[in-house]
Amino acid sequence: FPRLVLEETLYTLGQLKNAAPDFPHIALAGRSNVGKSSLINALGRRKQLAKVSSTPGKTRSVNLYKVEPHGFYLTDLPGYGYAKRSKSERELWADLIEKYLVECENLAAMAILLDCRLEPQEADKMMVRFALAHAVPVIPILTKADKCTQKERSERINQWTVLIPKGEPVAVSSQTGFGLEAVWKKLIGA
Ligand code: GDP
Repeated sequence: FPRLVLEETLYTLGQLKNAAPDFPHIALAGRSNVGKSSLINALGRRKQLAKVSSTPGKTRSVNLYKVEPHGFYLTDLPGYGYAKRSKSERELWADLIEKYLVECENLAAMAILLDCRLEPQEADKMMVRFALAHAVPVIPILTKADKCTQKERSERINQWTVLIPKGEPVAVSSQTGFGLEAVWKKLIGA
């Protein structure tokens, strides 16, 4: 397994754009509570690399993780679609993400985390369209695979393949470790 090292916590778009300028970045996006922090911890084989939230929607900063020895970075974006956030907060988020997609020259791909139990949700479809519209390749990742049956999983894979023709979704469980290697393969290959 590659090593994940928390490099920096960033608070502004300027910091985000200028961080590690000589290396490719892969952004991690997903709705609040989709299991993004758990996945980062599982990928890094560490318990406290990313904070698993008991209150969803709290994260506002962006964590930058260095992937060793591969020489690229994972950008952990704040979760979206959290209903209790105010409109202005949601607008700030959308503004940040859009500028990041447009202006970050190192962005190699965006991994979008999707709950394998749920039908494609409007917020996720929007995120996917947003990335593809900016010519950013999307890596769909189905989280919490331990919570759904094989049948549900393949149903979900089919649904997302229609929406993202160039990215076969990969299913993963941070709880059991299922699919972690496949996720690393996708990230390294991106
Ligand atoms: P985030 O808001 O996207 O960072 O989500 P978290 O990583 O904080 O996880 C949200 C909730 O889902 C927590 O209660 C986790 O324990 C749970 N969770 C995350 N990943 C998995 C998984 O692979 N399987 C199961 N069963 N639960 C998970």
